[in-house]
Parts: sequence; C-alpha cells; structure tokens
Amino acid sequence: MSKAAASLRNCFFCGKHIPTDAGMMLIKNDGSIQWTCSPKCKKNLRLKRDPRKLKWTRKYVKGGIKVKK
Ligand SMILES: [Zn+2]
Repeated sequence: MSKAAASLRNCFFCGKHIPTDAGMMLIKNDGSIQWTCSPKCKKNLRLKRDPRKLKWTRKYVKGGIKVKK
C-alpha cells in the first residue's frame, strides 16, 4: 500500500509522473513540499517560469494562456 502511494507523485513543475525512486524534493519557506522530476524542472521552478508556456511540460496550453486579473 505504501509503495503504491509513494509512486503517485507528479512533478510540481511539468506535471509528469515521478518514479518512486526518482525526483527531488523541494521544501519551500512556508513548509510546503514540492516534487520535481529532474534538475531541469527544479531550475525552472526556481526561476518561477510558467509551465503553461513551456512546450515540454504537461501543463503547456496551446495557443497561449488566459490570465485572469
Ligand atoms: Zn518535471
């Protein structure tokens, strides 16, 4: 059971599934935990890039994003 639960992580940045023994944990100042699948995602997350604007992420939105103000 715990093995299955551990494998349900998704990358906080690109949204891709992270294998149980992979990924990197980022702990933010407010104590929340973010998992990233690769150094690439970690870097982009640190730079506060919007994954919806990057084609290689699962969160990419075709034709641009609509931002509510
Ligand atoms: Zn990722």
